[in-house]
Amino acid sequence: MNSKYIDAMEKITLIGPFKQIIPMTGLPLKGALNDSQLSIIADGGIVLKNERIIAIGTFESLKAIYTHAHIHHLKGNHVCVPGFIDCHTHICFGGSRANDYAMRNAGSSYLEIAKSGGGIWDTVTQTRKSTQEQLVKSTIKLANRHLKNGTTTIEVKSGYGLTVNEELKMLRAIKIANIEALADLVPTCLAAHMLPKNFKGTEVEYLNEMSKKLFPVLLKEQLANRIDAFIEQSAFSPVQVQPYFEIAKQMGFHITVHADQFTPSGSKVAIDFHAISADHLEASTDKEVHLLANSTTIATALPGASIGLGCAFAPARKILDAGGALAIASDHNPGSAPMGDLLTQASILGTFEKLTNTEVLAGITFRAAAALNLTDRGILKEGGLADLAVFHTSNYQDILYNQGNLKPCMVWKNGSLVYDKHN
Ligand SMILES: [Zn+2]
Repeated sequence: MNSKYIDAMEKITLIGPFKQIIPMTGLPLKGALNDSQLSIIADGGIVLKNERIIAIGTFESLKAIYTHAHIHHLKGNHVCVPGFIDCHTHICFGGSRANDYAMRNAGSSYLEIAKSGGGIWDTVTQTRKSTQEQLVKSTIKLANRHLKNGTTTIEVKSGYGLTVNEELKMLRAIKIANIEALADLVPTCLAAHMLPKNFKGTEVEYLNEMSKKLFPVLLKEQLANRIDAFIEQSAFSPVQVQPYFEIAKQMGFHITVHADQFTPSGSKVAIDFHAISADHLEASTDKEVHLLANSTTIATALPGASIGLGCAFAPARKILDAGGALAIASDHNPGSAPMGDLLTQASILGTFEKLTNTEVLAGITFRAAAALNLTDRGILKEGGLADLAVFHTSNYQDILYNQGNLKPCMVWKNGSLVYDKHN
């Protein structure tokens, strides 16, 4: 059994009373949401057994039923929401890009930064120089930081190795980090991040080599069941990615796409391949918004990249109004999105895009879970994982009102209290 579950073995615990529990139940996966749709359990309690929730209701009624439960009694005002899900990050990397950030803000172009030794290639170089053990350590450190901010599930991409062996090093590091990290890490293979400078061949030849030599090892070692590609003028074109995704699909991988970040095109590929999500979308026009809204692909906004680069946000309001499913993720990476604070970024996206509290919370809970094909979290329900973010307040609206500055006072992961500010 995984060490992170051990202290929760065979123990029934009633937590409460919470001033409010926001279970995120009864809401549709797609479309706009208003706050009157949000269900709120007042004076609530949650009963946990091992890593799962077995009951939710009012604290007093649960106390009367579960008379033998250990009671984790809360004093003062607390609000409980599902642990957040960050469905798009690049937190496994070597080095720092602080100099890029300074240069970009001082007016340097992408090309000037690349010429001075910066840009994504710098991260590739630093990641290749890092040992697997160093990557394990740094990934755990960032994952645990996110956990303290209420994020209990974190997607983590490869994509800074860009050779078969270096991509494997990253994905093995993520797999090992997942054992130690307090949050769950969901790995994604992003070998199709960019054509590496030292590859002697075309984009198509590179992708062909990756699909032939890397994909079988991913399955054999269970390193990832998700394949991502950066579709952009500076990375890979839709035509180049097509055969790569076809092989991935045939082998049973889920597809996700870095789409429409600077130019629209990737979201069409995502939809054609029934990708589980299309992420970025800052450059999506009404045409792409309409296509996404009428597809099964989750549209993931990455406000952290807009804040990091000083670019427009994805058209989140339009996506929701057109009937799309909107997830919100941090894109935490050393280059364009160094902050990595999901709650802050989601709150800010809410003010710029005029999203309701319910839409923002949905975007970082059950709608983000859907972007990772996970049905056991992002919602507080009987049988679901006991992943809880608890805030010291009496009103759930305070969570987004404080724009990320109100941090959780407790985080429960798989039924264990893994972070407690009270102690
Ligand atoms: Zn990304």
